[in-house]
Amino acid sequence: MRIFDPHIHMTSRTTDDYEAMHAAGVRAVVEPSFWLGQPRTSIASFLDYFDSLLGWEPFRAAQYGIAHHCTLALNPKEANDPRCVPVLDELPRYLVKDQVVAVGEIGYDSMTPAEDTALAAQLQLAADHELPALVHTPHRDKPAGLRRTLDAVRASALSPDRVLVDHLNETTVKEAKESGCWLGFSVYPDTKMDEERMVAILREYGPEQVLVNSAADWGRSDPLKTRRVGDALLKAGFTDDDVDQVLWRNPVAFYGLSGRLNLRNTTTDVTHEGNSILRGGE
Ligand SMILES: [Zn+2]
Repeated sequence: MRIFDPHIHMTSRTTDDYEAMHAAGVRAVVEPSFWLGQPRTSIASFLDYFDSLLGWEPFRAAQYGIAHHCTLALNPKEANDPRCVPVLDELPRYLVKDQVVAVGEIGYDSMTPAEDTALAAQLQLAADHELPALVHTPHRDKPAGLRRTLDAVRASALSPDRVLVDHLNETTVKEAKESGCWLGFSVYPDTKMDEERMVAILREYGPEQVLVNSAADWGRSDPLKTRRVGDALLKAGFTDDDVDQVLWRNPVAFYGLSGRLNLRNTTTDVTHEGNSILRGGE
């Protein structure tokens, strides 16, 4: 089973995770920029983070045979913090970089006017840079959050077939599918979607434009959830081809819209700017 996890925060994970992911079939990941779990106090904190998503993290992934790309943005939560908003002015010089395959994750957290402004500005940045957009939908009041998200997409210069709306569930999938956007589902250990609910959704809505991710980060999460969904689908009678479409071809097609996806992963360098993942006895 070949697996592309289209939304995972590897910066928060260990080399053991990379090793286990590769053993489970993961050969490619996209890491969206997000918040740190605590507030950033200046935009310099974003810039160092972006640089690590563009350099150090792809290097770490390559050591385990996994291709790593990223999406960059001002995340929904910090769109409300005046100390962070000026990073919008820095984004254009980052969005031209080869490893960046979308603008994201953007969208709503608490659905504030500041979030409206940041979302509209970043959908425009995606259109200007001919990049697709990864749009997070809120965890609270999901149907209202999805509706407001789709309104923002419709008002933007970006066409829905260049937008992935993420963190969907049973209450939002129908409207999201009707919008023409790509459909993202995050499968967590005990919240959001689980494997069995994912099987039921795919039975009802089919595999077209559906992406499944672990959204694993520094919180309670599981970087092998993509594989567990693949196994559950096979057990439920889906074909190898269905599983390959959801876990590989759909993410390749969506992020391929950037024109920048490079899944050959031949890096054999043992250091990145003089630093390695090895410890001791080199
Ligand atoms: Zn995320």
